[in-house]
Amino acid sequence: MTEHEAGSLKSLPSSVRRSAELLVSRYVEEEGSLSPPINVLSLAKIAGARVVDGDHDLAGLTLQSASGHVISLGRKSRIAQTRLTRRARFTLAHEIGHVIVDSARSPEDDLSFATGQTVETICNKLAENLLMPDSVMNELFVLKLHDEVTIENIFELARVFDVSVEAVARRLSSLDLLKGARILGWRYARPRQKKWGELTCAWIVGDAWDHQNARLLNSGRESCALRAFRTATMQVGTESVSIDHQIVTSRAVAAPHGRFWVVEVLTPSAIPAQRDQSSPEDEPATE
Ligand SMILES: [Zn+2]
Repeated sequence: MTEHEAGSLKSLPSSVRRSAELLVSRYVEEEGSLSPPINVLSLAKIAGARVVDGDHDLAGLTLQSASGHVISLGRKSRIAQTRLTRRARFTLAHEIGHVIVDSARSPEDDLSFATGQTVETICNKLAENLLMPDSVMNELFVLKLHDEVTIENIFELARVFDVSVEAVARRLSSLDLLKGARILGWRYARPRQKKWGELTCAWIVGDAWDHQNARLLNSGRESCALRAFRTATMQVGTESVSIDHQIVTSRAVAAPHGRFWVVEVLTPSAIPAQRDQSSPEDEPATE
């Protein structure tokens, strides 16, 4: 399997993949195209699931009734609201994943489930594939946004696909489009007894696995993320972050995102020195 296939439906058990592809083609018949944002309520309907508002604190859950699947969204993701939030859209797509897995599962398929992926992992993969199809992502990110992992492009993709910034970051990573960059979501929190709070890492995507081990090493004015949070403007500079007990110092761009959030992109290498960037023709001819 190539890196790219790891993010596509190809990495899923074949029976699941077939069900997902069938659902997507029926969606295209119904809606005319896969152009974003995907109408996730229509997708649920085509999958044969009824979506209801649940009276529970889970993001969502899927039940099987005599008349078919029922997806129950939790208090925070009510469909009765005029518009589903970005998180609720992902939750719903994940639950549609459960409907797909359920309908794909049959005794002879059990073997194909032995791919080492849990049902939850499979449903997350289905959700990102449904909301951000790889063909559409490639067309937008690679062709229109020139394959550049910048905060502006990440925010733009989140807007176009109507998904969270974190979902976009994870999608770019699973499609192997990050080119070594790490994307971090910092969240500001102030403990009750303390006067000042701090930015803690809520999620990290890229070459790292444990966001709980990521923390800012430079403080105050030296930190891009902190400056972005305090000034509520985009900041460029060098950031030192401890990730998985390793210290990573690299070029960083951080931008505020919502009231208590900062999104930061750490690019793989430090800014090259000026002379490395220029070709010999650019050098002065004489001393
Ligand atoms: Zn689930």
